[in-house]
Amino acid sequence: KEVLLDVRGLKMYFELRGGLLHRVTGHVKAVDDVSFSVRRGETFGIVGESGCGKSTTGRMLLRLLDPTSGTVLFDGVDLAQLNREAMRQKRREIQMVFQDPYASLNPRMTVADILAEPLRAHGVTDRAEVERRVSEILAACGLSAEQARRYPHEFSGGQRQRIGIARALVLQPKLIVADEPVSALDVSIQSQILNLLQDLQDTYGLTYVFISHDLSVVRHISDRVGVMYLGRMVEIGDAETLYEKPLHPYTQSLLAAVPIPDPTQRRERTLLQGDVPSPANPPQGCAFAPRCPHATEICHTKRPELQELAPGHQVACHLY
Ligand code: SF4
Ligand code: MG
Repeated sequence: KEVLLDVRGLKMYFELRGGLLHRVTGHVKAVDDVSFSVRRGETFGIVGESGCGKSTTGRMLLRLLDPTSGTVLFDGVDLAQLNREAMRQKRREIQMVFQDPYASLNPRMTVADILAEPLRAHGVTDRAEVERRVSEILAACGLSAEQARRYPHEFSGGQRQRIGIARALVLQPKLIVADEPVSALDVSIQSQILNLLQDLQDTYGLTYVFISHDLSVVRHISDRVGVMYLGRMVEIGDAETLYEKPLHPYTQSLLAAVPIPDPTQRRERTLLQGDVPSPANPPQGCAFAPRCPHATEICHTKRPELQELAPGHQVACHLY
């Protein structure tokens, strides 16, 4: 399949300032040299603990944040080259779904108006056309015409996320970046929303970047998965390969720490020792070395680069 999104060497460094003179005292490498590509129609999951840089990566894909360096090629266009207006136009094609849709839904607008707003902002002014597209997307997202006349506070969390998804889809984008879209929902509602996202993907031929700390959610929805640790991609592979035969010690520990679903064996196996180091002061060499059971001398001095060990399976680790 053809590549829709190609991310190369993406970095986001935040300056740390301190002291009386407010001088730059260091940098937080929130995202440090991340590269991956996403094919048209597929779901690329990004998984990692909080603070690993996955949300920052997601925001840079839409230029909600401008990267320190690196390129985001979307459908052959380098987004950094677009001026403000051209980027605004491009946003029709790249939309974001957030963890908490309620925070971004105007409480004074009805659902119908919330969905009509992006259309109007992008020049769809014909009233019949706006109504047609709003009702189509409402139906596709499992919302009724009657519900469209209500306000966001009248809805449950799951329904609000349906509204958030409908708003993201109303401009008929090609790419959706979903950042923890089901993390705030009850487990039973989570699977409804995940199924909805998959149905919409099939109907509209959408491509997803799906960001979550929850490994089972990512597995459920993703074709391929990238694992992030302290601002870097440490392993990328097909979802199946990655979950069945993880190669990076961090991926292995993450998977081993997932609670076992069998209720008679309700315990959490936790192999992960210690805290995540601060990205302001990351370890030299492999960032995972302080927690890695396989660390050797070289791990503390030389940073492992991502290398392809099998077709489509990349790992950044000195063990290989
Ligand atoms: Fe562990 Fe070394 Fe591999 Fe890092 S490079 S994950 S410290 S074995
Ligand atoms: Mg799919």
